[in-house]
Amino acid sequence: MSNIVELECLCGVVKGNIKVVHGSFFHVHCLCCDCQKFASHLNNKENILDEHGGSELFQTYPELMKVTEGQDKISAIQLKDKGIYRWHTTCCNMPIANTLSSAKIPFIGVSVKLMKFSNEQEKLNTLGPVTLKAFGKYSIGEMPNDVHSKFPLSFMPKIIGFMLKGIFGKRNSPSPFFNGKETVAKVEVLSKGKVN
Ligand SMILES: [Zn+2]
Ligand SMILES: [Zn+2]
Repeated sequence: MSNIVELECLCGVVKGNIKVVHGSFFHVHCLCCDCQKFASHLNNKENILDEHGGSELFQTYPELMKVTEGQDKISAIQLKDKGIYRWHTTCCNMPIANTLSSAKIPFIGVSVKLMKFSNEQEKLNTLGPVTLKAFGKYSIGEMPNDVHSKFPLSFMPKIIGFMLKGIFGKRNSPSPFFNGKETVAKVEVLSKGKVN
């Protein structure tokens, strides 16, 4: 079963779509400090984070996502020089997706804020409930009961299975963020060296 969901940034300049394939995604809330730093860097926390500082992500394979408009309004940062690439729009400072720094890795974490649903029910029918809420130790205010304090190790086998399926199926490419090995835009590193 698969569904195509339209993607659109806040101001409507960057558009695309993503295929939701049953068994090929995780629907997560990430409360980690890096996702919060990214939202602060974009100076747009109110449009990105929930009340606990969480970011809602749809993690899937790069080949399932397309950017159809506004490619020139896409940029990326790394919080640290070994960190993941955090892609965002430059028109309205919204996160688009996270990728690894290598184009070979079949993983993309798309901001659910960009996914267009007519209502909550349609969203629930398409994405299902949230699979994992992680890094609650960074939550703003009291940590909600349904959030894991860190990343639960019990979730690792699922991630490994997902990655293996992606590697064997070559699902890393095409990617909206890489042409071959090269990124589609220059990636700005916010801080060099070992910084915590
Ligand atoms: Zn925009
Ligand atoms: Zn995070």
